[in-house]
Amino acid sequence: VQPPASPLHAFRDAVRRAPGRTALAYFDGRLTYAEADALSDGVAAHLAGRGFRRGDRAAVMLQNTPHFVLALLGVWKAGGVAVPVNPMYKAGEMRHILHDAEVTAVICADHTWDGFLRATAAEAPSVRIALTACEWELQTRDDPRVLRGERLGAREGADDLLTVARTGGETGTVPDGPALTADDIALISYTSGTSGTPKGATNTHGNITYNAERQRTGLPLPEGATYFALAPLFHITGMVCQLSAALGNAGTLVLAYRFEAGVVLDAFLEHRPAYTVGPSTAYMALMAHPEVSRDHFASFRMMSSGGAPLPPALVAKFRSGFGPYLHNGYGLTECTAPCASVPPGKEAPVDAVSGTLAVGVPGPDTVVRIIDEGGRDVPFGEQGEIAVRGPQVVPGYWRRPDATAESIPDGELRTGDIGFMDRDGWLYVVDRKKDMINAAGFKVWPREVEDVLYTHPAVREAAVVGVPDAYRGESVKAYVSLRPGTGPAPAELIAYCKERLAAYKYPREVEILPELPKTTSGKILRRELRDRA
Ligand code: ATP
Repeated sequence: VQPPASPLHAFRDAVRRAPGRTALAYFDGRLTYAEADALSDGVAAHLAGRGFRRGDRAAVMLQNTPHFVLALLGVWKAGGVAVPVNPMYKAGEMRHILHDAEVTAVICADHTWDGFLRATAAEAPSVRIALTACEWELQTRDDPRVLRGERLGAREGADDLLTVARTGGETGTVPDGPALTADDIALISYTSGTSGTPKGATNTHGNITYNAERQRTGLPLPEGATYFALAPLFHITGMVCQLSAALGNAGTLVLAYRFEAGVVLDAFLEHRPAYTVGPSTAYMALMAHPEVSRDHFASFRMMSSGGAPLPPALVAKFRSGFGPYLHNGYGLTECTAPCASVPPGKEAPVDAVSGTLAVGVPGPDTVVRIIDEGGRDVPFGEQGEIAVRGPQVVPGYWRRPDATAESIPDGELRTGDIGFMDRDGWLYVVDRKKDMINAAGFKVWPREVEDVLYTHPAVREAAVVGVPDAYRGESVKAYVSLRPGTGPAPAELIAYCKERLAAYKYPREVEILPELPKTTSGKILRRELRDRA
C-alpha cells in the first residue's frame, strides 16, 4: 500500500472512513471529522479569496486548540506552507520569523494580536492577511463571555478565524486543493533555540507522512484510537507524533491548551487516551502533582518520551509508581521528530559503563552513523557525532544554503549530538557536542551527572553546566529543583554524586531553584543556567 502523499491526504482519507467520529476534543468542545473538514475548507477558501497562493507562508501562532488544527489544514488545503510559531514569542522573535519566512498570512490568538502582533505585522511588508481566534471559545461552556453571547472574535485589521471557517470568507469556494506532493514544503519549523538564533528547517509533506505513518502502523493502536497531545502542536513532536498521527489514524486528538499538570491529569481521566508522547520534563511534573495516581495512566496502551534526555531513574520511578514503561525516542526538528525509538514491546538497555539509557533503534530506511570529525565511521561502542540519513530528514534550511551545506551535507544530517551505538543496533545519546564541560582537560558530559542526580529520591529536575574556574578552566555545577516536602542541603547532593562519579565529574557546586528554566516544548535550558552561573 502506498503511503499518502501528505498529511492532508491522510486526513481526507480519514474523513471518508469516519466522518462522524470525533477528530478533536477540547475541554467541553468536540469536532467530528466532517466538521473539521468543512471548517478547514472555509479557512482555505478565505485564504485563497485573499490571494494566498500555493507555496505562500502562513504563520500559525496558537496553543493546542482546535483552531490550530483548522488553521493548519486550511493553509495546506490552500497549497500553502505553515510556519508554526511558539505563542510565547515576543515582538522581536516574531519580527525575525515574519521577515525571514516572508510570511503572507498571520493566524494567532486575539490577545496576541492585540498585545503586539498587529503592530509587528504592520511593519512586515509581506503580511497581507490576518486571522485571529479566541482560543477560549471552545474551552468551556461556562466562560461567562460565551454565556452572555458576547462576540469574542473580529479584531481590528483581522478577520475572525472561526467566522471565516464557517462562511468561507467572501468567496466561499475551496481552492481545488492544489495537488500537494511529498516533496512540497509543509512546514518551516524554526528550531526552538536552545542553542542560538532560530533557523527554519523545511519539513516536507513526505517527511511528515513518513514519521506519522510509522506512528500509525508501528504502534499497538487501533484505528480511531484516542491520542492526548502532551507536547505542543507548534513543536515538531506534537505536530507529527500527535496531530498528524492521530488524524491519519482517524483517531481522536485530545487538546488541552497548554501543559498544566492538573489539567492534563483531569483530561486523562475524562478522555481515557491510549497514547501520548511528551518530553521527560512533562512526566516529571505529572509525577510531582499532589493528586496523581495510577488510575490516571490506566487507559494508556503505550506512552513515549521524546525530544529531551530521559534519565533511566525516571523510567523506573514512573513504572513502579504511576504508569507503563516509558518508551524513549530520539529526534530533532530536522528529522521531523523521531529518527530512532524504542519499539513497542521492547525495553531500552542501559549502558553498563555510562549508565545512559538507549534512545532506541533507527527506523526502517533510516541510516544512523556515528562519525568522527572527518565524517568517517567510528567503531562500535565508540563515541562520535550522530549523523542521520532517511526519509524524515529535511532537505535543508529555509534560504540558508550555508547552514544546509554545513549541517546536512549530501542529505545526511549532522545532529550536533554525541552518541554511540552498540552491536545490537541500539543508539545512545551522550549529550550535545557543545554542552561538553572541559574540566582541567577531562571531558564531562552533563547528562551523565544529571542521570546520577535523578537517582536521588528528592531530586525533581536537574541540569548540569560548566562554569568558569580559575584553576580547572571549567568546573561542574548542578542546578536542581526538589520534590515537594524534601530538603537535602546542596552539600548532601554533592556528597551523593561524589560517591558515584569519578573525581573530575561530580559537581563542585549545587544550587537549588524552585524550578529550572525550560523551553515551552519542555526542554531544560542549560544555556540560560550557564548565563546565570
Ligand atoms: P536548537 O536546535 O535551536 O538548539 P532544540 O535543540 O531544542 O533547539 P529540537 O530539534 O527540538 O531543537 O531538539 C533536538 C535535540 O533534543 C536533539 O539534538 C537532542 O540533543 C535532544 N534530544 C531529543 N530527543 C532526545 C532523547 N530521547 N534523549 C536525549 N536527547 C534528546
